[in-house]
Amino acid sequence: MKLGIPKEIEVGEHRVALVPDVVARLVKQGIEVWVEAGAGEGSFFSNSAYEKVGATIISDTTTLWRDADVIVKIGALQESEVNQLRDGSVFIGFLNPLGNPEIIKKLADRKVTAFSMELIPRTSRAQSMDALSSQANVAGYKAVLIAAAALPKYFPMLTTAAGTIRPAKVLVMGAGVAGLQAIATARRLGAVVEGFDIRPDTKEQVQSLGAKFVDVELKEETVAQGGYAKELSEASKEYTRKILTDHVANSDVVITTAQVPGKKAPLLVTKEMVAQMKPGSVIVDLAAEQGGNCECTEAGKDINRDGVTIIGPINLPSSVPLHASETYAKNIASLLQLMVKDKVLNLNFEDDIILGACVAHGGEIRNQRVNDALSAISQPSPVA
Ligand code: NAD
Repeated sequence: MKLGIPKEIEVGEHRVALVPDVVARLVKQGIEVWVEAGAGEGSFFSNSAYEKVGATIISDTTTLWRDADVIVKIGALQESEVNQLRDGSVFIGFLNPLGNPEIIKKLADRKVTAFSMELIPRTSRAQSMDALSSQANVAGYKAVLIAAAALPKYFPMLTTAAGTIRPAKVLVMGAGVAGLQAIATARRLGAVVEGFDIRPDTKEQVQSLGAKFVDVELKEETVAQGGYAKELSEASKEYTRKILTDHVANSDVVITTAQVPGKKAPLLVTKEMVAQMKPGSVIVDLAAEQGGNCECTEAGKDINRDGVTIIGPINLPSSVPLHASETYAKNIASLLQLMVKDKVLNLNFEDDIILGACVAHGGEIRNQRVNDALSAISQPSPVA
């Protein structure tokens, strides 16, 4: 079986899907690994590091995409790349299947068997393959460093000959994987931290990291099947913002990470709330690419509004490419353990992980939610 690792082509993508240490393990298992020349450069892995562990460096992109049996990517799949895939080959990567169902249709049309890393079930057995978590962890960590660098203050409490500095106050909204890592990182830097989420289970998790939980009592079910958050009613959203207003105003840094899978990010911080923050305060909005948790966020930009810096980073995991690639590569290696038997690809669709992550196979889209998302796009919008 030939496994191909292309060089990522999206602007700003520095990660690579497999790192040499993991390639070494796969080669030992009898998998032939092809790495496109320069694929590891952005993450500081040289061609020779891959060659040393038994990979073959391929200089011609077309050959890699056409002749590999399985292609693994980490960055967003581009249309030009789909066109190079061979009919009947296998693709594994982040496919944003609910946000971009058209690309799944294209993969199905090319009879590619495609696996979306976003759809790996969040179960204990699949924990080692959970790439959403490995990358969200990186984003949560980096968000705090960005905030600390932009804040005109120290994070920790300091007692110096020149006086005592009070610690920065950080509020983290959304206590999923990224949010919890942001809380832990802000605490390590010495800030006083508050955390908020609508899923009740998060209260204990936030407190166990030494942060205070902001309790907002909601009169509706907030957790959907699979443990993810539900989209709140307008009344609950409004009530949540009302409670959070004072917490936002009192914070030096607000980090927002709230998301509901397949939906626009919930609005947690309105422009009126921003106006109440102290000049010099910083908001880092990790939901920027999904519409933003803050009304003022502009994806990919740092803006200043009434003296408040609002940062809407795009693809933060790519800004810590070495460890983001290393952890993703381990997720992929664990998934491949389920897919390869005796050096040959052996897809068992009775396995809930294989079945859950598969979005296209045999010329068909294999996920109802993707089909629904596709139909929603193709419906003509009602005439006003
Ligand atoms: P996510 O990126 O979809 O969302 C981030 C956070 O935003 C979530 O905690 C969510 O509750 C929160 N949120 C949504 N709407 C909100 C609102 N209006 N206000 C405040 N917060 C809001 O989530 P994620 O980090 O990918 O994962 C969260 C879920 O996945 C949890 O259920 C978690 O326990 C589960 N999970 C399970 C495993 C596993 O068992 N292997 C691994 C990772 C995550």
